[in-house]
Amino acid sequence: MQVSGQKVVFIHYTLTGEDGGVIDSSEGQAPLAYIHGHGNIIPGLESALLGKTAGDKIKVTIPPDEAYGDRDEDLIQSVPVEAFHGVDEILPGMQFHTETPDGVQLVTVMNVDGDQVILDGNHPMAGLTLNFDVEVTEVRDATDEELEHGHVHGPGGHHH
Ligand code: ZN
Repeated sequence: MQVSGQKVVFIHYTLTGEDGGVIDSSEGQAPLAYIHGHGNIIPGLESALLGKTAGDKIKVTIPPDEAYGDRDEDLIQSVPVEAFHGVDEILPGMQFHTETPDGVQLVTVMNVDGDQVILDGNHPMAGLTLNFDVEVTEVRDATDEELEHGHVHGPGGHHH
């Protein structure tokens, strides 16, 4: 069965950055499962996997506009330390979820300047060119329930 819209695809992957360092990998874990054509994974990887079948291995380099987008300096903001009640110590690299009018956003602490915390709302991989080594391990039809929820159920997916 070939990878196409509405199929559930299982992949093993290793993601490396421009310097060759490993950013993420499914090695030693269950394969990642996603529904093709539902925006579950980045667009560049979806395009590269279209038409592939179980056992296929691909290497693909994906520019930011096909991955997590370019960095937006407007997403850097300064918030008073008091806003972080309940957090003992705020350190660079810490990540928080914040409520915004557009929904929940992940922000990363860039640094702490006096009583101000400088936050970066960009995706941690925004602006990066990503290299994927991918092996397709299984392709199957999605169930009606999976299509309705927009994510995979069972091993490698969400559990309810
Ligand atoms: Zn579900």
